[in-house]
Amino acid sequence: MNNSALKVLNKYYGYDNFRGDQNEVIESILNGRDTMAIMPTGGGKSLCYQIPALLFKGITIVISPLISLMKDQVDSIKTLGIRAAYINSSIAQDEILNICSSLKNGGVKILYVAPERLESPDFCSIIKNLPVSQVAVDEAHCVSQWGHDFRVSYTYIWKFIECFSRRPVVTAFTATATDEVREDIVKQIHMKDPAVFISGFDRENLKLCCLKVGNRFEYVLDYIKANLGQSGIIYSATRKKVDNLYEKLKANGISVGKYHAGLSAEDRKKNQEDFVYDRVDVIVATNAFGMGIDKSNVRFVIHYNMPKNIESYYQEIGRAGRDGEKSECILMFSPQDVITQKYLIETSIQSPARRMNEYKKLQSMVDFVHYNGCLRKYILNYFGEHVDYDECGNCSNCIREGKYVDKTVDSQKVLSCIYRMKREFGVNMIVDVLRGSTQKKVLQYGFDKISTYGIMKNYSKNGLSNFINTLIAQGYISLKEGEYPTVILNSNSVKILKGKEKVVLKEPTKVEKITVNSNLFELLRNCRREIARGEGVPPYLIFSDTTLREISSRYPVTSKQMLDISGVGELKLKKYGDIFLKIVREYVEKNNIKSNWYFKGNLSEVGSRKNGKLKTFEITVNMLDENMGIDEISSKRGLTVSTILSHIMKYVEQGNKLNVKMNFDSLFSKEEENMIVQVIKKIGMDRLKPVKESLPDSISYDKIKAVILKDYILKDNS
Ligand code: ADP
Ligand code: ZN
Repeated sequence: MNNSALKVLNKYYGYDNFRGDQNEVIESILNGRDTMAIMPTGGGKSLCYQIPALLFKGITIVISPLISLMKDQVDSIKTLGIRAAYINSSIAQDEILNICSSLKNGGVKILYVAPERLESPDFCSIIKNLPVSQVAVDEAHCVSQWGHDFRVSYTYIWKFIECFSRRPVVTAFTATATDEVREDIVKQIHMKDPAVFISGFDRENLKLCCLKVGNRFEYVLDYIKANLGQSGIIYSATRKKVDNLYEKLKANGISVGKYHAGLSAEDRKKNQEDFVYDRVDVIVATNAFGMGIDKSNVRFVIHYNMPKNIESYYQEIGRAGRDGEKSECILMFSPQDVITQKYLIETSIQSPARRMNEYKKLQSMVDFVHYNGCLRKYILNYFGEHVDYDECGNCSNCIREGKYVDKTVDSQKVLSCIYRMKREFGVNMIVDVLRGSTQKKVLQYGFDKISTYGIMKNYSKNGLSNFINTLIAQGYISLKEGEYPTVILNSNSVKILKGKEKVVLKEPTKVEKITVNSNLFELLRNCRREIARGEGVPPYLIFSDTTLREISSRYPVTSKQMLDISGVGELKLKKYGDIFLKIVREYVEKNNIKSNWYFKGNLSEVGSRKNGKLKTFEITVNMLDENMGIDEISSKRGLTVSTILSHIMKYVEQGNKLNVKMNFDSLFSKEEENMIVQVIKKIGMDRLKPVKESLPDSISYDKIKAVILKDYILKDNS
């Protein structure tokens, strides 16, 4: 491991270890080789060019696409003690001259510029005389016509690089790139023999859910109410839909803002800031929102409508949980969404080749929504990543919460009513007939004479309308678009009517809290909010949620201990250490908490002496050795119990022995254990799904995995 890079990581950022490919990427850049890194959002790209920037003698120029966010990006690294500046159209000429002179005398190490700047001859003539060591292209997919955010100004980057007498190292970073886009980046920026790093795209901490619910609004409202105080983004397909949803949420007392291209620049800026600064909890937005937003404590991303393709979807959900904490991504599907997206493609894209390309991508998105297997696996495969599991245990298809109920008879009632009504009507009219309404229109058409009149009185108006919408979402009936959408039968309807197929629906999943915050966490969070308000910066810039969570579970009471917390670097300790330490000390004292402090630093030393780099499962095992329970490790590491269990399995399966006796008490009861063992005796445990399905719903995958670990894997190894 590169020692100086590790020191910088520790000193400025307060982190102990590199993640994923970070170390390799940094090393390649430091060796002077052009380097491209493809990492998922939240994977930690910025650090990959910032650390070399700090170690290089000269300046690093970062090309970044969004002017409005440049200030935030620069502010954020300044809080770490890194000297940085930005130049874009909002900066006056004399200020630019100031910046240039600090560039010359080493007062600024990292300069962010908007790509449009590169076309300015004035700018180039100043820059070309400066010692530039690295040109880093952020969001590099913007150079490609085949990408989803093509920017013309990105195609000038190569010319800009050529203006230097000594060619700087050229680096490129993006979260989304298919082979096509990847090749385009290398070609368009004229990268020379680049080292290419493609990280795993998986974001373990994101729970992926795809829902086909009849009433989206009701669901979203319940969801937000269950998670009050958490930050979330709700994406909707059009400006009109955003306005509409925003008003409805507001009318229901939700702390909400909105964002789309139809708002004035001023309003957009204000609304975005309100969200980033935690002044509103939720923001409803079109896909215009989010690019470059680094807010790390976004706990949920809801797609109120299906996005246009997997690339956009994955980029948008990537904005959840950048801090690595458990977060949820909920995609709500309705067949109308496909029609909307097709319309958008037709009206916004001229070139027939690109249009075809977009249709192809849209189809993959639609396939995703209807996919029955593991959603995570689908996405990773889409990005060309091989996945060696069948079930991730953290997506709505793998976690089969909720009960399945046979709704065939009720569906037949609805379908035959539509059939008997002869003409095409909207959902409300069908509801009225099925519930036996005596409304004028119903009687005028003579619907009180047909046999399905009033046969579903047991449903409420709302309930029945939801049920019909669910049948539409599941594809059992079709919707015909128009000013007033009408409901029509399709080939699936016929199968149901003839009794050839059953309609088995999952009861809507119960809305649950994403995370439960402890009292200390809330105290720390309040303190963070106060400091942020005083400094006029977003709260997550002071400390991330992960950092607060770690403080609230490890109870550091000395400066040295505080420095061991991930995200606490030297500058932050100096600025905020005392305030936060005071809160922890008071809390520990008041609640009589006994500290059993351990230094993580030491843990990783033990690991790194063994094999160079501590793997994630080894960290888990080390924490087990520290006598921590599974639940505790799960909450400290922000990983699911299921992941922690797999870590232990992996460790043991590699022939290692556990030093400690594990305590399974909190994971399952004796009775549950017996039930699981009985089922495994009968049908084996090669695949978990059949095991799960043979057991009551209350027995989760976590419990099954835990029992397998205890009674089979550990037994064999003891
Ligand atoms: P990206 O640009 O790839 O979306 P960022 O660079 O914004 O990701 O990083 C996402 C978050 O992860 C940030 O809060 C960052 O500070 C944090 N992070 C990055 N690298 C590490 C690391 N090695 N250890 C812990 N946290 C990290
Ligand atoms: Zn899954």
